[in-house]
Amino acid sequence: MSYRIPFNRPCLAGNEYKYIAEAIANGHASGDGPFTRRCHEFLQKELGVPRALLTTSCTHALEMAALLLDCGPDDEVIVPSFTFVSTANAFALRGARLVYADIRPDTLNLDESCLGRLITSRTKAIVVVHYAGVPCEMDSILAVAARHGVRVVEDNAHALFSRYKGVYTGTIGCLATQSFHETKNFTCGEGGALIINDAALIERALVIREKGTNRSRFFRGEVDKYTWVDLGSSYLPSDLLSAFLLAQFEAKEKIQEKRRRIWNQYHESLADWADSNDVRLPVVPADCEQAYHMFYLLLPSLEHRDALISHLKSESILSVFHYTPLHLSEAGRKFSARASSCPVTEDISERLLRLPFYSDLTSDEQNQVTSTLLRFRIRSLSIRAG
Ligand SMILES: *Cc1c(COP(=O)(O)O)cnc(C)c1O
Repeated sequence: MSYRIPFNRPCLAGNEYKYIAEAIANGHASGDGPFTRRCHEFLQKELGVPRALLTTSCTHALEMAALLLDCGPDDEVIVPSFTFVSTANAFALRGARLVYADIRPDTLNLDESCLGRLITSRTKAIVVVHYAGVPCEMDSILAVAARHGVRVVEDNAHALFSRYKGVYTGTIGCLATQSFHETKNFTCGEGGALIINDAALIERALVIREKGTNRSRFFRGEVDKYTWVDLGSSYLPSDLLSAFLLAQFEAKEKIQEKRRRIWNQYHESLADWADSNDVRLPVVPADCEQAYHMFYLLLPSLEHRDALISHLKSESILSVFHYTPLHLSEAGRKFSARASSCPVTEDISERLLRLPFYSDLTSDEQNQVTSTLLRFRIRSLSIRAG
C-alpha cells in the first residue's frame, strides 16, 4: 500500500546524477576510485579523524570492527538490547557471546550505570548506539571501559555530526561505524563507513576491506605484488555509489538545516498536545547537540500506539516503530552469554512510534501529520495506560 505521506523518501541534494555520470566517464566504477577518495577526505576533514573508509553498509563496517578487535568465542561484547540487529550480529558472526545492556528511560541510550555489573574478565568491547542521533553519556562509558581494559565501538548510524560536550560522536571510540542507508541523514541507497580513531588499526583495516590482501600496499608501491595476508572480505562500495554520496556530503549544511527545522517544528507543534495526552517527546541533554535523525513519540501503552498508527493510517500517513528487544529475540537469546534483564527496553519497545521524517518533507506534509496527531486524544480512548 502506498501512503500520501510515507515514512521515508529518498531525497536528492543536487549533484548526484552529475557525479554518477562523471564516475562512469572516469572509467573507474569499482571501489576506491576518485569519488570514494573524496568521500574519505570529506569525513576525515569534517570529523578530524585519522582515517575514514567507505563500506558497503554500516553492517559491514561493524563486521570489520569485530574482525579488527579479534572478537572470538572466548569474548563477550556488550551491546544495548534496544538497537538494530547488526550492532549485535556483526560480533555474533565472529563467535563472540553477547551481553545485553538496558537503556536509559530519558535518551533511550545504553544505560552506563549498568556497565559495572555486565563487564567480566571476558568482555572485549562495548558497542554504544547514539540513539536517534543523541549522544550516549560517553565520559562515564569511557571511564568504565578504561578501568577494565575494554574497547569502545560507536555505532554512529543515527548520529553523524552530533556532538557530545562539543566533540563529534564517531570520533570518541577506537572505531565507529556510519550508515548511508536510504533512511539515514546522508544516503546512497545502501552504504556505510568505518571511522578509525585508533591509528594502530588502520593498516589492518585496509587489508580486511580488500578481501584480506595487501592490495593497498601494492598500490602505494610498497610491495611488488599483492597477496592474501589476513582474513577479510569485499567491503568496498562502487565508485558510482560514492559519487551519489559525495553529492549528499557536499550539501551537508543544507540537509542538516532542513532536518533541524523539521525536528523543531514537530517538537514545537506537539509539545502541548503531548503534555495533555501523556505522550513523551524526545529528550536531548543540555551538553549534547543532536544530529536530527528522527522524531519519535512515546505513547502511554502498546494499545495507544496501535490506535495512533491506525489513526494516522486513516489519513494515509505512515508511522513505524522499532526495535524489538534483541535479548528476547530468537537469535539474540541463542548468541547471548547469559540471561539478561532489560525492563526499560521491553517497556519502550512497545510504546515508541516514529513519525515521517526525511529531508524533503514539506511544511504542508508536516502540517498534515501534526494536525492529524492533534485530533488524536489519548484520554478519550477507552484504553488504560501502562
Ligand atoms: C541503520 C542502522 C544500522 C545498519 O545500517 P546498514 O547501513 O543498513 O547496514 C546499524 N545500526 C543502527 C543503529 C542503524 O540504525
